[in-house]
Amino acid sequence: MERISWNQYFMAQSYLLALRSTCTRLMVGATIVRDKRIIAGGYNGSVSGDVHCIDEGCYMIDGHCARTIHAEANALLQCAKFGVPTDGSEIYVTHFPCLQCCKQLIQAGIKKIYYAEDYNNHSYAMELLKKAGVETYNVVLTDLQIDQEYQEKEAYVDRLLQELETQTNDRSRYEMLKAEAAGLFHR
Ligand SMILES: [Zn+2]
Ligand SMILES: [Zn+2]
Repeated sequence: MERISWNQYFMAQSYLLALRSTCTRLMVGATIVRDKRIIAGGYNGSVSGDVHCIDEGCYMIDGHCARTIHAEANALLQCAKFGVPTDGSEIYVTHFPCLQCCKQLIQAGIKKIYYAEDYNNHSYAMELLKKAGVETYNVVLTDLQIDQEYQEKEAYVDRLLQELETQTNDRSRYEMLKAEAAGLFHR
């Protein structure tokens, strides 16, 4: 069995975090990694204790949601809060960071940005990243497969087994196949 790559693993983690976003304008997740270890994670959301955009609607000022702290900033702030150094670390984000976040990532010493989707990539941000020697890589999530027809497949295999039971003369062969199915569906 082929193992999931680090890039795929960390990007999948960011997509999971994105599902926790409370600002629905854009669901973003970010994972800060150092030496192949996750040191922090963040998603788009309001300040702790404040209301959520998903409940109250976004607080729009000049076309931006003023309530939201971006996923990348939240991940950096988590490091600040708990005293975790970010210098020389890498970040995996579901969407290319905005100009403000790019500035913060550079200033926090992030050396590599892995992003899955382009998102209004700012030319000034690109220039700053280049000057700072921060490398950017596009990582598209391809390895992670979630089987959404799991239950249908299990029910289908059960129907096949029932058919087989009524028609077979080889009882032990049937029991073997049944046990195999049980193992496959973890029961
Ligand atoms: Zn919002
Ligand atoms: Zn941002």
